[in-house]
Amino acid sequence: MGNGFGIKCKKCGYNYVGVNGIGYMYPVEYASTVKDIREGKHGEEYRKFFEEHEDAAVNCGNCTAVCTKCGQIEDVTDLSVYLPKAGQSSDGCVLPSVLEDGFDKYLEYEHKCSDCGGKMRIISLENEIKNGALKCPSCGEVLVEDKEVKILWD
Ligand SMILES: [Zn+2]
Ligand SMILES: [Zn+2]
Repeated sequence: MGNGFGIKCKKCGYNYVGVNGIGYMYPVEYASTVKDIREGKHGEEYRKFFEEHEDAAVNCGNCTAVCTKCGQIEDVTDLSVYLPKAGQSSDGCVLPSVLEDGFDKYLEYEHKCSDCGGKMRIISLENEIKNGALKCPSCGEVLVEDKEVKILWD
């Protein structure tokens, strides 16, 4: 399950809808992400970790990230890598909620801004907006929630 969260800038009209969580295609995305990792498409560190750990699992959930350099906001695939705690199995596709409870996080993917190449930070749109911490990437004004946006994703 995923849900959308809308934000907007009252000054310049910038708006953005972040969709976080997972969709019904999750098992397919999971399988292709693991394949990409094993083929080295997400870097040598990731490839090696999956080679050394048969039971490694990856979070393929969607989340929102903000560029620490230019402030651009983008949706990205989480791609954090986990190993199971005792008694947990990572057979098949592991859901993000299971990863959070039954797994330990080992690697965090370094997302790069598609605009300036800067380092991105994964955020909770909802919390950042509540705290007034998110600035408009176009004009620098504090962004607010766009209450007209409510998306439920299956
Ligand atoms: Zn603006
Ligand atoms: Zn950037």
